[in-house]
Amino acid sequence: MPLLDILVRFATTGVVGPFCCGISMTELNDVLGYPRNSVLVPSDGRYSWVRSFDSVDVWTCNCPRRLVEAIEIRTWSERVDIPYTGSIYSAELSPAEVTEALSIANLSWTWDPESNSMQVEPTNVYFGFDGNNYLAVVGRRINNHECPVPTIPERWRQRHKQRLEAAAAEGDAGSRSGEG
Ligand SMILES: [Zn+2]
Repeated sequence: MPLLDILVRFATTGVVGPFCCGISMTELNDVLGYPRNSVLVPSDGRYSWVRSFDSVDVWTCNCPRRLVEAIEIRTWSERVDIPYTGSIYSAELSPAEVTEALSIANLSWTWDPESNSMQVEPTNVYFGFDGNNYLAVVGRRINNHECPVPTIPERWRQRHKQRLEAAAAEGDAGSRSGEG
């Protein structure tokens, strides 16, 4: 399947191959194996793990559920590999080619000249172009999951309280013996 067809399908459904926002890393690993590399990067004022499966980067949340929050396909490289859709080569797609394909698929989008990118409704899949006006990246970011704040188990809280009390009692004893 040509790369543009895969990207239009992504714009239509918000899903590309096994990649979709909200899936857990465990589920993704079951299908794809482990990512080639994982790096911690600053994102939205915090740190997120970015894991790379060939040309697809996946952002996950930080709680133990490790849910996918964003997917980004790097289309600027000479070779674009999207796992489970076959090996595809970069076609150096122009904005005109992309908009034509989106029109044929009956999709509407908004263009942002400042970032040289377009966003497709209603999936929010974005197409970003580089300085030479070639398609550089196609992605989707969904933030509908808030990682729960880690809670301290009650028995730890109790143990901590006991330790504090014990330390205070020892301190009292120490100061008393010092006085004596
Ligand atoms: Zn989370």
